[in-house]
Amino acid sequence: MPEEVNPFESLQSQIDAAGAHLEIDDDVLERLKYPERVLETNLTVELEDGSLGRFQAFRSQFNGDRGPYKGGIRYHPNVSRAEVKALSGWMVYKCATVGIPYGGGKGGIVIDPDEYSEAELEAITRAYAVELRPLIGEDKDIPAPDVNTGQREMNWIKDTYETLENTTEPGVITGKAPDSGGSAGRVEATGRSTMLVAREAFSYLDIPIEEATAAVQGYGNAGSVAAKLLEEIGVDVVAVSDSSGAVYHENGLDTQAAKDHKNETRSLTGFEGASEELTNEELLTLDVDLLIPAALENAIDQQLAREVQADVIVEAANGPLTPAADDVLTERGVHVFPDILANAGGVTVSYFEWVQNRQRFYWTAQKVNEELERIIVEAFDALTTTYEGREVETFRTAAYVVAIQRVADAFEEAGTFP
Ligand code: NAD
Repeated sequence: MPEEVNPFESLQSQIDAAGAHLEIDDDVLERLKYPERVLETNLTVELEDGSLGRFQAFRSQFNGDRGPYKGGIRYHPNVSRAEVKALSGWMVYKCATVGIPYGGGKGGIVIDPDEYSEAELEAITRAYAVELRPLIGEDKDIPAPDVNTGQREMNWIKDTYETLENTTEPGVITGKAPDSGGSAGRVEATGRSTMLVAREAFSYLDIPIEEATAAVQGYGNAGSVAAKLLEEIGVDVVAVSDSSGAVYHENGLDTQAAKDHKNETRSLTGFEGASEELTNEELLTLDVDLLIPAALENAIDQQLAREVQADVIVEAANGPLTPAADDVLTERGVHVFPDILANAGGVTVSYFEWVQNRQRFYWTAQKVNEELERIIVEAFDALTTTYEGREVETFRTAAYVVAIQRVADAFEEAGTFP
């Protein structure tokens, strides 16, 4: 029987696991397990063949105790209310883990973008922006890219919002193209924090990273950049995959050449620099030092977790392990460094973008990368201090302990209204 996993329930079980280590009243903890509000809407858009398309879309604002809601927008056929709620909650605890002044939100449209033309995607995105307009704003809720969205969609949303509001407000959304107010370093930020967390993790565990081998599942924005930056610090990235399958070379792949091949042919398979092709399952169970899931939720279930041979997992994707898989890996002594720290580079550089937009003063790539490194290393240290000091079982629970305490403190300090 395949494991049935509701990502929102996964989030709630992670909060409960951390709550056991915190002196927070149960009713406050209960509040931190549910979104404040969820928009569910149906976009009606005229398609190129003259028919009307209906697209279900969501935006969840999970918690705003530490600042405006913040989180990406996903275009995928599997987007659901439960997934959007979970992803918005993970954003709350991610922002708190790295100490940036945001709450958490997330949005999505149920769509396979490959089935629509660019003009249709623009119309759908603008229709979504119209629905989002009352909810978003640089002091209210600031969307960003996620799976299957990027600079193009962010630019359309910014333009729709600014046109309807008759203003200029680039800080209403992040992940924009540089000429539309985007930040240097934003595209690479998620992969960069993944690399930084892997580097800090290996140093903490006293394993030389320059002798390590790695496998990366998912070769989009997060995975391909993580692979490239790991290769730059000496890691042999022996296998990478996308939804078409996995490519492998025991001496390490040329990650840039693999990316170029994917850009040209839209899939990794057929890459000439590989010695072998594998299934995604084979990639996830390779005997490597470091495994980076960088695709979607629930990539590793309980059964697969029993076969994972990696010593360290750094989660670039959000929620890539089912809770049962997480338990199996903990029992088996695999060190898992959680998504809410490892992929927090994306939202951290989004935060830098928002700061620059508000100041109308732009930083160099060097400054962005230095500030990102400082924030990720400090957050890593706070996590390991909590891990040791409070004797929690996993690095994930340690991250939630740090994050939930910060959100609960902000809530208690504000008091309740009305
Ligand atoms: P993306 O769309 O750029 O890339 C996703 C990749 O995963 C693609 O290469 C796709 O082919 C691959 N994929 C999909 N299903 C797969 C499967 N079953 N097996 C192997 N590969 C598969 O998306 P992204 O922005 O890189 O996001 C990936 C993950 O990282 C998501 O969980 C996302 O929430 C998370 N994340 C992204 C950012 C960001 O800034 N982009 C920030 C934080 C977290």
